[in-house]
Amino acid sequence: MTEQVQLSVQNLKMHFPIHRGFISRVVGHVKAVDDVNLHVLSGETLGLVGESGCGKTTVGRCIARAYTPSGGDIFYQNKQGAQVNLATLPKNELQPYRREVRMIFQDPYASLNPRMNVLNIIGQPLKIHGVAKGKELEDRVATLLKRVGLQPEYMKRYPHAFSGGQRQRISIARALALEPRLVIGDEPVSALDVSVQAQILNLLQDLQAELKLTYLFISHDLSVVEYIANRVAVMYVGKLVEVAPTSKLFATPKHPYTEALLSAVPKPDPRLRSQRIILEGDIADPANPPSGCYFHLRCRYAAKVCGENTPELRELSPGHSVACHLAEQLQLQGVHYQ
Ligand code: SF4
Repeated sequence: MTEQVQLSVQNLKMHFPIHRGFISRVVGHVKAVDDVNLHVLSGETLGLVGESGCGKTTVGRCIARAYTPSGGDIFYQNKQGAQVNLATLPKNELQPYRREVRMIFQDPYASLNPRMNVLNIIGQPLKIHGVAKGKELEDRVATLLKRVGLQPEYMKRYPHAFSGGQRQRISIARALALEPRLVIGDEPVSALDVSVQAQILNLLQDLQAELKLTYLFISHDLSVVEYIANRVAVMYVGKLVEVAPTSKLFATPKHPYTEALLSAVPKPDPRLRSQRIILEGDIADPANPPSGCYFHLRCRYAAKVCGENTPELRELSPGHSVACHLAEQLQLQGVHYQ
C-alpha cells in the first residue's frame, strides 16, 4: 500500500428536497450527507460505518456518481495520475470513471437480473463500454469466473441456480469486468451467512492484493470492518464523528457514539465482555437535526456546550480525528483483545 491519496472527499453534501402540497413546493431538505471530509489511500480499505440511515450509502453513491452531490468536491486520481473532480464532472464526461469506480451491492438476490444468464450479467458492462464481444467476451467472462472461484461452465446458468455466496461472487466478477481501480462495497456481505461472509471477505482481500484495488467498504457491522479495513470512519446523521486506523479505533475510541457501537461487538473471550451501552432515544432526524452536537440527546456524557455548539472533526493524534467537545477528557471503553 502506498501513501498516495486516490480519493479525497471534501465538504461533501447531499441534501434531498422534501416536497409538499399540490404544486410540490420544497418545504425543507433531508441532509443525508452534510459536510463530509475523508480520503482513501491507494491500495487501502477504508471502512465506513454507522447505523442504518446515517448517510454512509449516500456517500458511496455520490462517489460512484449515482447521485450528483448538492455540494463539495470528490477529487479522484485517475489512471494517468491526474486529479479530476467527480462531483462536478458533467454526465457526458463520466464514462471513463464509470469503468474505474465500481460498486458491489448488498443483496446478491436483487442485484442480479433473474432473466439474464451469468455470461450476459458479467459481460454486459464489457458490451456497454465496447471492450469485448463474441468469443473474446466469453473468454473474459470465463477468466473472471475463475478469478472469483467459480467454474467457467457456470456462465450459461441463471442466477436462481446459485447460492447467496455464489451470487455475490458473480456480482464481484461483474464489478471487476472493467478492471476498476476503486471498488465501493455497499454492505457486500451483510445478506450472507457468517461462514460464507468469511469466504467472501477473504476473496475480496485476495483480489485487492492481486489487482491492487482500493476499497471503500460500507457496513453497519463493526466485526466485519475490523477484519477487512485498514482505517475506519464512523458516521452519525450525515456527519463523520471519528476516523482512525482500525486497531486504534477499536482499542481507544474517542467518540461516545463509537464507544456505544463497539460495546455491541461480540467478543471471543467471555472474560473480555464489556457492558453493552444501550443508546436511549431515537437517531436524530436528518431533516431537522438538533442544535449543537447531533448526538447530544443520546450521549451519556453530554455537557451544556454539547447542545449549543457543533463540534468540528479535529485531529487528536496522527491519523485519529474526532468530532467531540470532550474528547480529551473522556476515558472511553474500547475492545481489548489479548
Ligand atoms: Fe457527547 Fe458532547 Fe461529545 Fe457530542 S460533543 S459526543 S454530546 S460529549
